[in-house]
Amino acid sequence: MTTHQTTDPSGDEAEIDALVGDMTLAEKCMMLTGSGPWIVPGCERLSIPDWRTSDGPIGVRGMQIGTGLVLPGESALAATWDPATVAELGAALGVEAIDRHVDVLLGPTVNLHRSPLAGRHFECFSEDPELSAEIASAYIRGVQSTGVAACIKHFVGNDQETERTTIDVRIDDGTLHEVYLRPFEAAVRDAGVRTLMAAYNYVNGHHATAQPDLLVDVLRRQWGFDGVVISDWSAAKETVAPALHGLDLEMPGPGAWWGGGRLREAVESGDVPAALIDEKVRHILGLLAWRGRLHGDSVTADEVMVERDGDRALVRRAAASGMVLIKNDGTLPLSGESSVALVGPGVEHTALLGGGSASLVPYRSTSVLESLQRRWDGDIAYAIGVDLRRRAPTVPFEWLPDGVRVDFFANDDCAGEPVASESRLAVHNVFLPDNLPDVGWPISAKVSFTLQPDETGHARMFCAAFGRCRLSVDGEVVADNQVDQFSAGLGLSAGTGDFVLQSGRRYQIELEVRPSPGSTYPLILFDVGIAMLPIGGREAQLADAVAAAAAADVAVVVVGSSDEWEAEGRDRSELRLPADQDELVRSVAAVNSRTIVVLNCGAPMEMPWIDDVEAVLLAWYPGQEGGEAIVDVLLGDVSPGGRMPTTWPRRLEDTPSFDHYPGENGTVTYGEGLLVGHRWYDLHDIEPLVPFGHGLTYTTFGWGTPTISAGPDSITVAVDVTNTGDRHACEVVQVYVEPPERGGDRPVRTLGGFAKVSVAPGATETALVVLPLRRLARWSGSEWVVDAGEYALVVAASAVDLRSKVAHIVDDAFIVDESQSTG
Ligand code: BGC
Repeated sequence: MTTHQTTDPSGDEAEIDALVGDMTLAEKCMMLTGSGPWIVPGCERLSIPDWRTSDGPIGVRGMQIGTGLVLPGESALAATWDPATVAELGAALGVEAIDRHVDVLLGPTVNLHRSPLAGRHFECFSEDPELSAEIASAYIRGVQSTGVAACIKHFVGNDQETERTTIDVRIDDGTLHEVYLRPFEAAVRDAGVRTLMAAYNYVNGHHATAQPDLLVDVLRRQWGFDGVVISDWSAAKETVAPALHGLDLEMPGPGAWWGGGRLREAVESGDVPAALIDEKVRHILGLLAWRGRLHGDSVTADEVMVERDGDRALVRRAAASGMVLIKNDGTLPLSGESSVALVGPGVEHTALLGGGSASLVPYRSTSVLESLQRRWDGDIAYAIGVDLRRRAPTVPFEWLPDGVRVDFFANDDCAGEPVASESRLAVHNVFLPDNLPDVGWPISAKVSFTLQPDETGHARMFCAAFGRCRLSVDGEVVADNQVDQFSAGLGLSAGTGDFVLQSGRRYQIELEVRPSPGSTYPLILFDVGIAMLPIGGREAQLADAVAAAAAADVAVVVVGSSDEWEAEGRDRSELRLPADQDELVRSVAAVNSRTIVVLNCGAPMEMPWIDDVEAVLLAWYPGQEGGEAIVDVLLGDVSPGGRMPTTWPRRLEDTPSFDHYPGENGTVTYGEGLLVGHRWYDLHDIEPLVPFGHGLTYTTFGWGTPTISAGPDSITVAVDVTNTGDRHACEVVQVYVEPPERGGDRPVRTLGGFAKVSVAPGATETALVVLPLRRLARWSGSEWVVDAGEYALVVAASAVDLRSKVAHIVDDAFIVDESQSTG
């Protein structure tokens, strides 16, 4: 791995100096806040173009939040333990970004899997700082190899959604450096990431967008970052402190704190030195220079949304490469069966991605059902078993005999007389209330209509809004997004409820839409949906599934969650599979002794039925080609290649953050310190449900005796891996570092490095695991120190499957040279 050159490689320094010298203060400040949700203005007078950002991280949404290539979720990417594949995926995203004229892709997300309940768990790589660091660096190198900048996020400690914009995260200095900062450091120092996003939360008392210690001392001074620090969307909380302490760009626009001349006034009044503004502008111009766009026209061309040749194959290969075969009593891969029962909500509606700002519409969706039907000759019976969906399609136009009325109020709770009203034909709308009298913000809205269905039966009603919403039918509340809330995409938060509908009857429906407290986003957006539920209800669905399973040679149950259950903005409340899916698995396993479970989710789930089933395949959110990739693995066309990037616990109480999550009185203290993930289970001797690093394949491997060679900057451990079975597969050799006795609450061992090798039947490949000396070091408070003594390098197939140990003696303690690569 190479150490990245952080000085501007394009030689544009002189030009940047001249531009900064030419610009007025007003022009400079204009460049430091967005002009809209995604676009940042340049300076027309000096022909500096506007530039564009886009989410990120598993696809490129573009300005229109349109369709795009959808990769497996980040946890699935980390589960590949394969930086080379991740770099290829990053490059594919870079090309997608170029198609959409995007300068900065808002990813990867490198917050750690601290709590299994975290709403964005699926969107983060791993519990382990080193695995996250290597995979993130590969992703960034891939994206940036196309000339598009990546944006590492969210700096730092944004590891939960509960109170995410107000929580003060208390992390001690050692834990910060050795754990939570680690992926960011690798991104900056090893992968040369061009931009970084400051998080919503506070860290040790300072807001993440105004961090003298972290944004200035650590990021700029220690690591030499010369890119752009961007606020998370609406994260900034004031004008002066972020300007003084590290933020370069307030997003989105118009900037609530730096827009409208506020930043300029702060400079004019002497609260913010003009030199700091110059520095920020320099960072942005440096980014544009790196992009080769220091001068030119702002883009006006349409975004191109066309799938590239080869991308489907790449994403499909990556998905299978990250799938973890947790258990297999020999039932997988399928062979010789003549009938399969496909059961579960993920069969037809395979969940391809999680929810929130990371979501987009895939170029195409694939499903296990469609793929197996096309590719397999035997009999396939399908039954959903449990309906996981919480959303419902927008109320059909034909059921709205009198149209829809919307009343707007100049307050946040639909009080008093409306300030404006309008008639609409549909209940799915975006209102930007700029056609209303100028009453400022907040504005709330009441949406009312008559519903006249032409069906009778149990119905599910759903409402969603940007903000709060509550839906009533004939005066009775049926759905409320403040109760059992879930994400409906694009920042919409949803509620759902069931009631009995009679054909021909007229129902009075009312939806109140109110902004979230403190929201400064002048937007009213809502949706009302309705779906008829199956005759016979839930029992009938379950009974159909059990009958199908009982009649088949093998039952494949695809259970998990979806973007409605796992999403940005909200943590989960428990580890159980949502709805009645545990009961579904148990009921199927009771009638079919050859039951395979495919877990289609992004975060840890309990598996109370694990001993009752033959095989468990963790497919994650596998991206747009997920249906095909799952079938590749089921049929044995590909051996599953993944290893756990995170420990899955037996119970929530076993997890390291259990006593320190989600915090109280606005503060969360990371009391488990350095003992994140597998380190906690090791030290406390807790048996996990699925250990870190674990994953089976369709073959067997023999491992040779490791050899070790020490160089000036790194240690290399070499292990010969022989495929002793009859199928091609990949093996991941992991090396953990056991330091000399250090005492206290330090980990027994940490992940030092890993190597994945692809081995043909009968062949032997050498896995070379390179450990930069930094992997032996601890943070002293000011330096990285390698203590003297005997280190054990533990060669392992998982955090609990330790195969052999090699000693490495350090005669004299030393400080790791900061100019060296960290990983
Ligand atoms: C998320 C970011 C995202 C941004 C823009 C925020 O809510 O935290 O990850 O990039 O929105 O969509």
